[in-house]
Formats: sequence, C-alpha cells, structure tokens
Amino acid sequence: TRRREKVRAIADAFRRRCATPIEKLQRLADAMTDEMHAGLLLDGGSKLKMLVSYVDNLPTGDEKGLFYALDLGGTNFRVMRVVLGGQEGRVVKQESVEVSIPPHVMTATSDELFNFIAQALKRFVDTEGEDMRPSPGRQRELGFTFSFPVNQTSISSGNLIKWTKGFSIDETVGQDVVAELTKAMERVGVDMRVAALVNDTVGTLAGGRYNNPDVIAAVILGTGTNAAYAERANAIPKMKGALPKSGEMVINMEWGSFHSSHLPLTEYDKALDIESLNPGDQIFEKVISGMYLGEILRRVLLKMAEEAALFGDVVPPKLTSPFILRTPVMSAMHHDTSSDLTVVGSKLREVFEISNTSVETRELIVELCNIIATRGARLSAAGIFGILKKVGRDTIQKGDKKKSVIALDGGLFEHYTKFRDCLKSTLTEFLGDEVSESVTIELSNDGSGIGAALLAASHSRYL
Ligand code: ADP
Ligand code: MG
Repeated sequence: TRRREKVRAIADAFRRRCATPIEKLQRLADAMTDEMHAGLLLDGGSKLKMLVSYVDNLPTGDEKGLFYALDLGGTNFRVMRVVLGGQEGRVVKQESVEVSIPPHVMTATSDELFNFIAQALKRFVDTEGEDMRPSPGRQRELGFTFSFPVNQTSISSGNLIKWTKGFSIDETVGQDVVAELTKAMERVGVDMRVAALVNDTVGTLAGGRYNNPDVIAAVILGTGTNAAYAERANAIPKMKGALPKSGEMVINMEWGSFHSSHLPLTEYDKALDIESLNPGDQIFEKVISGMYLGEILRRVLLKMAEEAALFGDVVPPKLTSPFILRTPVMSAMHHDTSSDLTVVGSKLREVFEISNTSVETRELIVELCNIIATRGARLSAAGIFGILKKVGRDTIQKGDKKKSVIALDGGLFEHYTKFRDCLKSTLTEFLGDEVSESVTIELSNDGSGIGAALLAASHSRYL
C-alpha cells in the first residue's frame, strides 16, 4: 500500500495544481479583459492578437445566391455549397462533404496541402446538380474558413502568422493563404474566386447572427479553441483608416494564445508544451482543447505508472506513446456510468493494452478525467466572462431586456457533456442568477460553414 499512497499523493498534488476557485477565475477573466484592451491598442500589444477580420457587417438575412464554403482547420476539412434565398428562402439548400486530411499532408509542403484541398474541391464541384449551378457567365464564389491565425489585409486576403493544432509547414508562414489556394485551384482546374477569408470563429459568429440577432460572440471548443466577437470600431485604436460605416468590427481574438500568471499549470502541462510542435505558444489552448486533454491524462497516468507502479511492475509500453489517448476516449471513460466502470476497463485495454485493472484504479482514472475536464471548462467560462465584461454585458441595467447569446461550436463542446455542463454552470456562477437569464450559450453546429458562405455572399462581386 506504499504504492497506493504514492498514487494518491500524485493525484492529490495534481488536483491542487489544477484547482480553479472562483476568485482565481475572476482574476483570469480580468486578465482576459485587460489583454483584449492591450491587443486592440496596438499590434503586438498582447499575447492576444485581437485580429481585425475586415468583417464589419454581419449577415442580415438578405443574402442570396449559390455560394461555396471550405473549412480547413482541424483533422477534417469540409466543402459545401449552399443556395441562399434571402429573407423568405433563407438556406434553401445545402450540400457538403467531409474529407479527412492525411497527417503527412499537414506537415508536407504548401503546394501539397493546397493541391490536396483544391482537388477535393474539384471533385465536389463536379457533383453539382442542375439546381445548384452558377448562372451563366458567373464565376463561383467561395467563403474560405481557415482556422489559424492570419493577418488579414482585406476581406479576401491574409498572411499566415503561424500554424497550430498539429499543422506545421514552415514555407506557408507569412504567405497569403488565399493566393496559395487560388494558385492550387488554377493548377487543378477549378473555376472559383475566394470572396471572403474568415477564421472559423468569425464564420461561427456570422452563422450564429444569421439565426439569432442576439448573438454577440462565438467560441470554438474543438481540436483547438478560439473566440471572436463584435467590437465597437472606435474601441480599436490600432485600426487605421476610416471607421466602418456600421460602427462595428468583428475581432478574431486568437484566445488560444492567452497567457497569465494566474493560469493553473502543472508539470504535465509544462512538459506537454515543451515537447509540442509549438513550444511556448497557445498555452490557454493546451489546457482547454480537445487536441490536448487526453494527452494530459496520459502524462499523469504515465507518471503514476513509473513512480508508483499503478499498472504493475512494468510500465505498459503504449502508455509512453504521445497523443495515443484521444479526448473522445477520455470523455467516454469520464461518462462511464456502469457500477464497475467497464468502459474505463475496456478503453484501457484498447488504447494501452492494459488489462485486469481494479475498480479502484478505474475510479482514480475517472477522477483524473474530472480534474482535467473541469479545469478546461472553467477556464473557458472565465474567457467568455472576460468577453462579456469587455462589451459590458456582464451586468444588466434596470429594465434592460437586452439578451446576449454566445454561439458555441466544436466537437469538444458538442460531445463532451460533462465539460459542457461545467462550462455552463461556471458561467452562471460568474454572472449570478439574475444576469444569467439574459445570457445564453447556443450550440451552433457547424455554423462556420454557412457563416463563410454568407460572408462570401455579402462580399460577392456581383452585388
Ligand atoms: P475541428 O476543431 O478540428 O474543426 P471539431 O469541431 O469537429 O473539429 O472538433 C473535433 C475535436 O473535438 C476532436 O479533435 C476532439 O478533440 C473533440 N471531440 C470530438 N468528439 C468528442 C467526444 N465525444 N468527446 C470529447 N471530445 C470530442
Ligand atoms: Mg472546426
């Protein structure tokens, strides 16, 4: 039982380091608000890039016509076409296909990546039916959702700042990704113009606003994490030139790179970061998002195996393999409701080839899942509260009936129920019961695709 005590000591230390009492979260939300101000003041003013999106009008419902959208940013990419029918018709018809990106393409060359995308787009265009064709003489137009940090130079151009989430192709950094895609489309013979380049958060905000005029911000919790919101144009000192007529500008926060001394980081997070493709970067993302949560759990289990023989005298070899434990598997273990935790047992067998675990060990694993998911969900809620504070929606004036809706998308939020529930209850903890009534979180399932098509429509050359 020395071993048991040792395991317990490691678990307890981990729990303490991950703790997120509300006072700590308040400080983090304040830090988020401060960093937002700093990032809006000047380029490089904060770890938060607060990128100007060039989207100064969100969809109204008047958008009409056939548009394509392409979503690149995670393990899958999607191409879609939609027919928009204005106020009456809304989304008349939509079709889409999902293509998974082979891992080697994510780290190959720019040409290989963009050729791969353009070819998939070509195959999709070739399946256009009678009722979904551009009118004669009209070029197809595309909304390109590209979920990596980009310095936009216009609504339809922008240079890649850096890759994240497992993509890594040095030569693309600094390049205009629209030019890259356009060249690839020419190479493979697709006749299409990129009308709008948008981050997935901006697309989700656009799609969310189209469905609900009270949507003020969008948050992605998927492979990575990020947020965008509508800011007052005169609150963006770094934006040069004439202010947009609408008085608003959508800001892509790139909140995955948020950092603060108040973040509860453990030795496991620090090691994960150092060994990652982007050390020192995207620290907020690395404690919150789907790409990393399972990997954090693996690291804790490995430590317990090595230092306290959690799985017996030999460390199971698979346990040493980075990223072998995916977050959906962690989620399945966390939600195991069987009395002897059979799901946990079978996942350990499938992923790590570990058999014959005791119920006690399985319970410990569920506890670790809970620590990791709770921390991520509560930190996400603190980020959302930071945005609400920045735009003055964290309180309500007497008689004010204004609603604030946050559009949420991403597989982590959609499928990891305990994560989602914890995020929501933490936001209520922040807001209090009364203000909570005016703030809602809405799942915007794949809103970014429609959002990008809507923004392509409002930036069409045929208007
Ligand atoms: P992306 O962020 O790559 O655009 P998604 O929004 O579909 O794509 O999110 C996919 C991510 O969501 C996966 O990488 C995974 O981390 C997470 N995810 C998917 N399903 C689940 C699940 N059942 N439980 C927890 N996380 C999940
Ligand atoms: Mg996505």
